Amino acid sequence: MGRRKQHGEKSRVVEDKNSASMKIINQSALGIRSLSSLPIDVMSRISYPFVKSFEKYGTINDVQEDTIEFDYQPRFVFSCNSCLCCMKSCSDGIVCQFCQMVVYCTEKHKKENLKKHEEICKIFTEVCIKNGGLSLAENTRGDDYRILRVKLIEKIQNSARRPLSLWEKEIILYPRVCAKCHRFGNDLKPCSHCEMVLHCAGHENEHLKWCPEYRLYQKILSMQYKHGNVNPDIPNVICEDSKILPNNFDSFIFEIYSSSLYYRIMDCYTYATLSHVSTVPLTSLYAFQKSRANWSTNDSCTIHVVGAEFQFEGLNLHVWEKLFMHLQPNLKSLHIVLTGPELYVPDVPLDLLGKVPLCSRCRKSSRKIKVSYVSRKLYHEYCRTSDDYVKPDLICLFNPGLYRLTGYNGTDTWPETIREACNSTAPIVVTAYTEHEIPRDIERIQSICDMSFILKPQRNPYASLKPDRNFVSDDTVPLIYKNYYISIVKKCL
Ligand SMILES: [Zn+2]
Ligand SMILES: [Zn+2]
Ligand SMILES: [Zn+2]
Ligand SMILES: [Zn+2]
Ligand SMILES: [Zn+2]
Repeated sequence: MGRRKQHGEKSRVVEDKNSASMKIINQSALGIRSLSSLPIDVMSRISYPFVKSFEKYGTINDVQEDTIEFDYQPRFVFSCNSCLCCMKSCSDGIVCQFCQMVVYCTEKHKKENLKKHEEICKIFTEVCIKNGGLSLAENTRGDDYRILRVKLIEKIQNSARRPLSLWEKEIILYPRVCAKCHRFGNDLKPCSHCEMVLHCAGHENEHLKWCPEYRLYQKILSMQYKHGNVNPDIPNVICEDSKILPNNFDSFIFEIYSSSLYYRIMDCYTYATLSHVSTVPLTSLYAFQKSRANWSTNDSCTIHVVGAEFQFEGLNLHVWEKLFMHLQPNLKSLHIVLTGPELYVPDVPLDLLGKVPLCSRCRKSSRKIKVSYVSRKLYHEYCRTSDDYVKPDLICLFNPGLYRLTGYNGTDTWPETIREACNSTAPIVVTAYTEHEIPRDIERIQSICDMSFILKPQRNPYASLKPDRNFVSDDTVPLIYKNYYISIVKKCL
């Protein structure tokens, strides 16, 4: 395997599964390419067809070690104007004449679903129509509207004598009402652009601001329903010099993929998923670079993730190699400690669970990624009682909602966790779903410990691009993204 460096030019090495040799891509070649094409953002990819498999497009894995792969199939997501049977958005759908809360693309699909829908339809009709439940939503705002929906779910569950599944709850949480005034009625019209949001005549305008994001959300949901999970292929681009992350995800990804065919044809679902699986390592690296002067010379790095969830921070660990380690040639060993009372890990040996497959180059140079799952434990318990506690170089709290006083299991355990995190004197990076939450999260930390800013609250360039509906503050921000806002603080010494 040859490696060439031309005088003064920075080279990047790309491993290619299909050829035994490594490819060298140098910056000047990249420069020429970037003149002829530009980064393609997620919105520009909305009309692209789904890219089934990447295999044939080259790059990627040469992993031979034993590893576990989890394939969680996405659950059904209810969307008020998508067919209950096939998830197709319905500009002219057939609404269930009884409950008026679900829609079908065709009579055929309505018929097919009749039996399945019957039980819940009867209860919806009883609670929401005959007793006027959902009609009370009209002109309710904020907390009143939220409380109404939560109470309706309670009533329905009581009648059904069973808990509703998540998608059934979504029929009530995000119902077929006018997005502006919340009026329930069979004369509502779907937005002709996104086909996802309903309005009464004259109430369309306020939605325009959010419409493109809804359109993306609809596209992602329908591709997810049709094709299941997607695992974006990430090339092994190994930098010879430490790579400083730009303030822009699209240009970074453009650089990493150079203008490979895969990059050029990637659909919006795959691209949004790429951002989603890489937001944790990339946000960590971004924060690391902002807060540690010696980030590029360190040969080891320990990251504590506080309040981790298995399905978010605990999965896709391979991205840590590709988009964290490969960008720092001096880094030999990376230790990620995931802690949190809600970190439920599957029943497999922990050493296998935390094993990150590494490329042959990393294996050859004895690089290591260790992942520790400290499950069902609060962070301060881990710090105080764990034998294998390692002092962190960075502490991450991803979307923690620190400002909420309800905490875990009704007990507010944040103060102790925050105190312990601050005591380590490592920089603390906090992210939030919305710009309204992040200052309140930081205030919470400030109220416990005297902290100074390394990065004031701002948009995180490495946020997830995969939208989700917001229930907590849907009146101001209907769609949210993980790690959308970021701030970094450090204890004043
Ligand atoms: Zn259908
Ligand atoms: Zn019905
Ligand atoms: Zn209205
Ligand atoms: Zn729309
Ligand atoms: Zn590697």
